[in-house]
Amino acid sequence: NTLQDAYINALLERVLTFTSPMLRQQNIQLHLELDESVPATEVDAERIKQVFVNLILNATQAMPDGGTLTIKTYHDDKWVYTEFTDTGPGIEQADLGRIFDPFYTTKESGAGLGLSISHQIVRMHGGHITVDSHIKEGTTFTVQLPLPEICD
Ligand code: ADP
Ligand code: MG
Repeated sequence: NTLQDAYINALLERVLTFTSPMLRQQNIQLHLELDESVPATEVDAERIKQVFVNLILNATQAMPDGGTLTIKTYHDDKWVYTEFTDTGPGIEQADLGRIFDPFYTTKESGAGLGLSISHQIVRMHGGHITVDSHIKEGTTFTVQLPLPEICD
């Protein structure tokens, strides 16, 4: 475990340098709404980047004919939030309870591990990952990570 102070916005930007060509190739518009006031947080940067890659990859695979991926960051006193919203087909209510299970996949050659590993990584950081999905509208995954406590 290698914890370090990192800016979530900076980690996102690093992940996007190598994932945005794939988005462009698939006619996916990228909307970034990064709150510049998000403080640094203590994370295993490599693992958090892996979570972001998994969510961007899933969003991309959900929009084979193009669409929009909106990535948004914001924070409150205790948490930093990173949202990934796609304009894909959405996830059926009945399936929402299984998508974080290991080996659950609806893809022909999917391993079904991306979300389960991402869930574990975020939990390891004391955070949460949640999903909000609407059929024919799209899906939002939110990664919520704790901010260091402010002492005075
Ligand atoms: P895999 O991508 O290998 O299938 P994941 O754990 O990453 O495994 O995802 C599990 C399943 O959750 C996917 O197969 C898909 O059914 C569903 N899913 C994940 N992300 C999205 C998304 N953005 N839109 C629609 N379905 C999704
Ligand atoms: Mg996946």
